[in-house]
Amino acid sequence: MSYHPSIALIGECMIELRETHRGGLTRSYGGDVLNTSIYLSRLMGEDAKVRFTTLLGEDPFSAEMAVAWEREGIDCDTVGRVTERNVGLYFIRTDKTGERSFHYWRGQSAAREIMDSDWTSLRAQAMGSDWIYLSGITLAILDDTGRKRLLSELAIARECGAHIAFDGNFRSALWTNPLAATTWHEQTWNLCSLALTGVEDEAAVFGDTTPEASLDRLRDHGIAEIVIKRGQQSILMHADDKNQSIKVMPVGNVVDTTAAGDAFNAGYLAARLKDHSSADSARIGAALAAEVIQHTGAVIPNVHMPTLF
Ligand code: ADP
Repeated sequence: MSYHPSIALIGECMIELRETHRGGLTRSYGGDVLNTSIYLSRLMGEDAKVRFTTLLGEDPFSAEMAVAWEREGIDCDTVGRVTERNVGLYFIRTDKTGERSFHYWRGQSAAREIMDSDWTSLRAQAMGSDWIYLSGITLAILDDTGRKRLLSELAIARECGAHIAFDGNFRSALWTNPLAATTWHEQTWNLCSLALTGVEDEAAVFGDTTPEASLDRLRDHGIAEIVIKRGQQSILMHADDKNQSIKVMPVGNVVDTTAAGDAFNAGYLAARLKDHSSADSARIGAALAAEVIQHTGAVIPNVHMPTLF
């Protein structure tokens, strides 16, 4: 893989409000693709150009986010600003049993307009990257016209040599029609060279009854490298023309599994970009995820980042 690669990660960042034990609130920000961007940027440092591709508003929260991303070393040359929109918001409630539930206000979010014609040149910049990364949530926040345009731009990028990585993250609440999710995910898989996906998401979108069925189905799309995450269970992979199973080391003190999969993806991709084998890359992704789940929140403080390379 290229020596100093550029990676564009297309997604949405939202304000996060989290209820504390005493009924107060803490505020941060997050989003699945952003989480992966932050971890990838930390792991690659100067060795890669990590772009987060999105739209923000002109509000103070949007301004804060962009500053924070730059502080993380993320390249913001594909971040646009929409005057009449702002950023989405989600609220994490924790009930008496400790069970978390997520509640969203994202209808007015600027990121939903990313495929509009106003942003053609911003997207061209992103699509010119060596790698393009997106998730099922990236697809879910767009309308059908936007999804169609995204897929045709990805197809062109692929023809020009870009590698496309997709995590089939599925949030049913974002899809008015579950069949639409199946169709759009299917079309996206057709363009991918790397699948970094979760076993439950694949089952929810495609009705697969076993992880092996998901692996076979993804192979039918001609995807050369497939990684299926299964929580604490071993990772199922197909790479270098063979199926592999990679053991996940048990974690004694699981605090919060938010963003485990996002962190895994960053670790895996960073390791592949640094020329590690696919099996070692899965172990590296799992090592980062293992650390992340021992802390509260999606993005752990930089001081807790494990030494992976
Ligand atoms: P996703 O959020 O994409 O569904 P998973 O929940 O499968 O992702 O978790 C991603 C990775 O995080 C797993 O492959 C594993 O490496 C690690 N992980 C998640 N949960 C645990 C756990 N309980 N113990 C150890 N590792 C875990």
